Amino acid sequence: MGLFTRRKTVFVDADVLVIGGGMAGCGATYESRYWGRDLKIVCVEKANIERSGAVAQGLYAINCYMGMQWDENQPEDHVRYARNDLMGLVREDLGYDIARHVDATVHKFEEWGLPIMKDPETGRYQRDGKWQIMIHGESYKPIVAEAARKAATEVYNRIMVTHLLMDKTKANRVAGAVGFNVRTGDFYVFRAKAVIVAAGGASHIYKPRAAGEGMGRTWYAPWSSASAYALPIEVGAKMTQMENRIVLTRFKDGYGPVGAYFLHLKTYTENAYGNEYESNWYENTKELVGDYIDRHPVPTCLRNHALLEELKAGRGPIRMVTKEAFQDPHKETVGWENFLGMTIGQAVVWASQNIDPKHTNPELTTSEPYVMGSHATCSGAWASGPEDYAPDEYQWGYNRMMTVDGLFGAGDTIGGTAHKFSSGSYTEGRIAAKAAVNYINDMGKDQPQVSEAEYENLKQVVFQPMENYEIGRNEIVAGTVSPSYLLPMHGLLRLEKIMDEYVGGISSHYTTNEPLLTRGLELLEMLKEDLNHLGAEDLHQLQRAWELQHRVLASESVTHHTMFRTETRWPGYYYRGDHPKLDDTDWHCFTLSQYDRESGNWTMEKAPVYHIVD
Ligand SMILES: Cc1cc2nc3c(=O)[nH]c(=O)nc-3n(C[C@H](O)[C@H](O)[C@H](O)COP(=O)(O)OP(=O)(O)OC[C@H]3O[C@@H](n4cnc5c(N)ncnc54)[C@H](O)[C@@H]3O)c2cc1C
Repeated sequence: MGLFTRRKTVFVDADVLVIGGGMAGCGATYESRYWGRDLKIVCVEKANIERSGAVAQGLYAINCYMGMQWDENQPEDHVRYARNDLMGLVREDLGYDIARHVDATVHKFEEWGLPIMKDPETGRYQRDGKWQIMIHGESYKPIVAEAARKAATEVYNRIMVTHLLMDKTKANRVAGAVGFNVRTGDFYVFRAKAVIVAAGGASHIYKPRAAGEGMGRTWYAPWSSASAYALPIEVGAKMTQMENRIVLTRFKDGYGPVGAYFLHLKTYTENAYGNEYESNWYENTKELVGDYIDRHPVPTCLRNHALLEELKAGRGPIRMVTKEAFQDPHKETVGWENFLGMTIGQAVVWASQNIDPKHTNPELTTSEPYVMGSHATCSGAWASGPEDYAPDEYQWGYNRMMTVDGLFGAGDTIGGTAHKFSSGSYTEGRIAAKAAVNYINDMGKDQPQVSEAEYENLKQVVFQPMENYEIGRNEIVAGTVSPSYLLPMHGLLRLEKIMDEYVGGISSHYTTNEPLLTRGLELLEMLKEDLNHLGAEDLHQLQRAWELQHRVLASESVTHHTMFRTETRWPGYYYRGDHPKLDDTDWHCFTLSQYDRESGNWTMEKAPVYHIVD
C-alpha cells in the first residue's frame, strides 16, 4: 500500500481562494471581504501570515507612495518613472491603476497602527527619495496580517499549495487548488469559484554568491520559491517578461540595501583606486542602448552595467564611500538603523569583518539574478487591465485576471508592473480581489466543478517523493547518496548550476547566447525527468521537493523568454552575447509564453507596448 493512501484528505470550499498571505495576499483577503460581505474568503499560506513573505522581518521604508494629498506626485509621474527604469517596457495601464490607489492603502496601514515617520517641519510623511516614505516597520507584516485575519472566513497556515485544479466542465477555467499541511501531512483540496495567486517571487533559481552553509543568505527571501509563476504556468496561463530578471547592487556578503545611503546619506561609489568610474562607461553604454543612458534617473540596470564593466576591467572592488558621511553622528545613526529595520545581517557581517563604515569604505557587489514582478523588474503573469484605462488588446474580462478564467494574481505574480513594492503589491491584491468578487457575482449558477479523479491523482503525485524515499532509502551507497532518488537539495544545486552557467548567472558575468540557452534547456529537460525520482524523508523535505519543482518550471520559462528576445534590453541585468545591443525596432514589445503541460511545449509570441501616458 502506498503512503499516500493512508493520508487524510481535508476538503475546503471557498468563494475566493487566496494563495499566499504575503503583502498582495493580505490585500486580496482584506478587500475580498469588503466587496463580498457574504462570501467565503479563504487564505492559504505555506508559512504563517503573521511573519511570512518578503516583508517577514519588517521594512524601513514604503517604496511606493505618491503623496497626492500634498500634490507631491501624480500616478502619471510614477508610470513615467517605471517606464524609464524598465527601458520603455511596462504595462502602463496596470501601473497607473496601482499608482492611483496606493496612497489609500498606505493611509489604511497608518490607521491600523503602522508608525510612519513625519517631517517635523512640514508634518508630511518623511521622504527618503521621490517615492519612498520612512516607517518604523518592524511590525509591518503583523499589522497587515491582522487586518487580513479579521477579514478572512478562514486562514490556513502551514499549507503549501502544489497545484491548481481546473474545472471539469470548462477546460480553461480554474476550480481550486491542492496542497499539503507541512506539519501534519494532511492533503488539502480547496474548491473555489475564483483563485487569486499571490505567492511571491523567486530566489534560488540561480546559484547564489553565498554558497555552502551560507546559501540561505540571499537578497530576495530564500523561501520565495516561484510558486507564483509555476502554479499559473502549469495550467496554461500566459506569462510575460520572464527574461527581465533582477540583479541588485548591494553591500557585499550581507545584501544590505544601498538606496538610503545614496539618497539620504549622499554617499557615492569609487573603484579600488579611489576614482569615480561611472562616467568612463558612458560612451560604451550609449553604444549599447542609445539615449536611454541620458534619461533621469539613469535606469537601474545601466548603473549595474557600469559597475560590472569596471570590475571586468580589473579595477575592483567597488566601494561605497561612507567615511565622509559617517563623520556626521546623525548620518552614522541613520546608516546603521537602515539595516536594523530589515537587513540586520549586514551589520553582523560588518562586525565580523572588522568593517566600521566610519573608518573603512565597504565593498559593493552585484547579486545573483532573481525573478519577481514587484521590485525593479516585472516578470510575471499576463493579466487583463482595468476597464476604464486599459487598451482593448489588454482586456479580456476582469481586472488582473490571467488568461485562465477565474485565475487572478497580484504582487510579484503579475508581470509588466515594476516598482509596486510592498504598498503597491498590497494595492494590487485589493484590485484583484474586487474584480474576483465581480467575477463570482456574474457567474450565477454556472459554477466550476472539481474532478475527483484529478485531485486523487494529484494526491498520489504530491506524496510520491515520500514514497520514493521510503522505498529507496535502503539502497544508500554513501552518506545521503542513493541510486534510486534525488534529494531536493541535490536537485536545487543542479538547477542553480544550470541557470548560472547557461542562462546568464554570476559566473558568466550574466552573459548568455543561443547555444548556451539551447544547452541549458536540454539540461533542464533532463533535470525535469529526474525530478520524478525526488526523495523526501519527511514533510519538510516534501515541501523542499515541491518548491524545487516550482523553481524548475519557472526557470524553464525564464530560459525560453531569454532565448526569444534576441537583444540585450537591460545591460546590467543580463547580456545576450550574440545580440549585445538594445533593438527598439524589433523588440519594443512584451514577450509572452504559454506552456502546454500535455506536450511540454512552450509557445512564444510578442505583444505590443502601448504608451498611454505621454
Ligand atoms: C530584501 C527586500 C527588501 C525590500 N525592501 C522593500 C522596501 O524597503 N520597501 C518596500 O515597499 N518594499 C520592499 N520590498 C518589496 C516587497 O517586499 C515586495 O514587493 C512584496 O513583499 C511583494 O508582495 P507579494 O505578496 O507578491 O510577495 P510576498 O510578500 O513575498 O508574499 C508571498 C507569500 O506567498 C507565500 N507562498 C509562497 N509559495 C506558496 C505556496 N506554494 N503555497 C502557499 N503559500 C505560498 C509565502 O510564504 C508568502 O507569504 C523588499 C523586498 C525584499 C526581498
